Amino acid sequence: MSPEAWLQQIWYGRRRAPWWLRALSPLFGLSVRSRHWLYAHGWRRPVRVAVPVIVVGNISVGGTGKTPLVIWLASRLAGLGLAVAVVSRGYGRRGGRGVAPLRATSSAEEVGDEALVIGRRAQCPVYVGSDRVRAAQAAIAAGAAVVIADDGLQHLRLARDAEIALVDAQRGFGNGALLPAGPLREPTGRLESVSAVVWSGEGFGPATGQRQGRTALRMLLAGGDLAAVGTAAARCALASLAGQQVHAVAGIGNPQRFFAMLRTAGLNPIEHPLPDHHRYRPGDLQFGDTLPIIMTEKDAVKCQAFAPAQCWYLPVTAHFAPADERALLGRILMDARLLDILVCPLCKGPLRRASEAGGKVLVCGADRLAYPVRDGIPVMLEEEARLLEPTDPLLER
Ligand code: ZN
Repeated sequence: MSPEAWLQQIWYGRRRAPWWLRALSPLFGLSVRSRHWLYAHGWRRPVRVAVPVIVVGNISVGGTGKTPLVIWLASRLAGLGLAVAVVSRGYGRRGGRGVAPLRATSSAEEVGDEALVIGRRAQCPVYVGSDRVRAAQAAIAAGAAVVIADDGLQHLRLARDAEIALVDAQRGFGNGALLPAGPLREPTGRLESVSAVVWSGEGFGPATGQRQGRTALRMLLAGGDLAAVGTAAARCALASLAGQQVHAVAGIGNPQRFFAMLRTAGLNPIEHPLPDHHRYRPGDLQFGDTLPIIMTEKDAVKCQAFAPAQCWYLPVTAHFAPADERALLGRILMDARLLDILVCPLCKGPLRRASEAGGKVLVCGADRLAYPVRDGIPVMLEEEARLLEPTDPLLER
C-alpha cells in the first residue's frame, strides 16, 4: 500500500492512526493556533492591499471543487462590471519563485495546473506566486479592482474582506483530526468566522455545518460536453459513451469523485488514479488499446502536447440553487463592500445607492440610469436599467 492510500484509510476510512501519528497532531494544532494568535495580537501584521480581497479555500486537505468555485465567483463578479483578478499559489509549479502573470503561452510547469484551468475558464487575469501579497499587488498594478485569492484561507499575511470555505460534502471532515492524523489544516471552529461555508457535492450538508447564522450553502458540480485534449476542437457528449468501457485518468485530490461522476453518467471506467499535480509523461496515456481516455481539465492542461486522438477531458462547472446563489453573492458583496466600487458599465463613472418605492437602485447621474438591485444583487445591464427624467428625485443628491 502506498503511503498516500494508507493515510486516506486513516483519514476517511476505519483504520486507526498509529500513536506516533496521533502524537504529531497536537503539535500541528499548536503551530496553527500560535500563527492565529500572532496575527490576532498584533505581533504579525496582515498586509492590506488597495482593493477588496476575497479568499476561497478549505480547512481540509484535498480537492473539493475549489477551482470551479473560483471560476464561478470570478465570472459572477466580472458580470457586475468589476475588474477581477485571481491570485494563486500555483500548486504543481516547477521551481518558480516570485510572481508570474498567467499568459496565453504559460505552461503548467511555469504556473501550476489549477492556475492554468482558472485562466482558461474564468478569462480574467491570474497571478501566480507563493507570496500572495506580492501577487495581489501585481494584479492591482495591472488594474484589478477586486482580488480573489485561491486557496488562501491559511495564508493570513494577506488581509481579506471575505472568506469562502469549501467542504467536501462526501468526505466531510474525515476522522475530524488535525494533520497529520486527520485531514484538517485547521480546527472546524474556523468555519464560524468565514463569510460562507460551501458544501461541495451531495452528502453531508449545510444542516450539519450551520453555525451562528453563517451562510451555509450547497454547490453541485456538473460535467459539460467532453472536449478533445489535443489541439483539435472536437466535442463529444458524455452520454454518447454510456455503457462503454473507458480509461479514466485523474491526478487530482480525490480521483474517486471523478470516477464516480463517470459511473453516474453510465460509463464503465477503468480507473487510473494518480497523485495530485502529477507530472504527465506520454507513457501515462498509453494503455495498449484504443479505448477512449477521459481525464479532468486539470490533467488535460498538462497533456495537450502528446495526448492521443482518443483522449478527452470533462469540463466541470459549479452550480447553485438560485436561492443559494443569491445568498452567496449577496454575502460576498456585503462583506467585501463591493457595492461601493461598482461603476456604471456605460460611462465607468461612480454609482450612487438610492432607495425608491420599488426597492434599491444604483444611480448613474451622468447617464441618468437607475440599475435595479434584486435580492441584494445589482443587475448591471443597460437593458435592465431605467432611464430617469432630468427632474427625477433620484438624481438629486
Ligand atoms: Zn454611466
